[in-house]
Amino acid sequence: AEPVVLVSACLLGIPCRYDGGSKLVSGIRAQLAGCRIVPFCPEVLGGLETPRPAAEITGGDGAAVLDGAASVRNRAGLDVTGEFIRGAEAVLDLVRANQPASVILKAKSPSCGVGRIYDGSFTGRLRDGDGVTVALLRRSTAIRFYTEEDFPIQDLDEKNA
Ligand code: SF4
Repeated sequence: AEPVVLVSACLLGIPCRYDGGSKLVSGIRAQLAGCRIVPFCPEVLGGLETPRPAAEITGGDGAAVLDGAASVRNRAGLDVTGEFIRGAEAVLDLVRANQPASVILKAKSPSCGVGRIYDGSFTGRLRDGDGVTVALLRRSTAIRFYTEEDFPIQDLDEKNA
């Protein structure tokens, strides 16, 4: 069967970002030719509307959010932690249903960021840590993480074999 790759929907040109836009990575579909692409947007899956106020994790990273030690707040100060956790759980369900070897994620996002995320100050500053969805996938699966910053991924075919 063809390899399955989960991809943050905004990287495929789907306009699901907070500002109503996307972050299309040119060449992404060509590189993933031969794979079955499963797009996902945790923030939409969690019940948030598009467009929506930007949100960041305050007081920690995605792992801390899962542990109840940090929260996700939008620019208006509204707590959207529940939506972010619901979205992460929906993506985990997608992983369990589709068994992808890899997931390609939008860097720095409070949901999709891998290893580096915005620090909660809404100033563009970064901190170490995963977004909420990545934190949950890291705890619950053996999936491999990439971001658009890794493109083109040199040995994706081999890694998905
Ligand atoms: Fe959705 Fe993740 Fe893209 Fe944000 S970064 S728009 S949560 S897919």
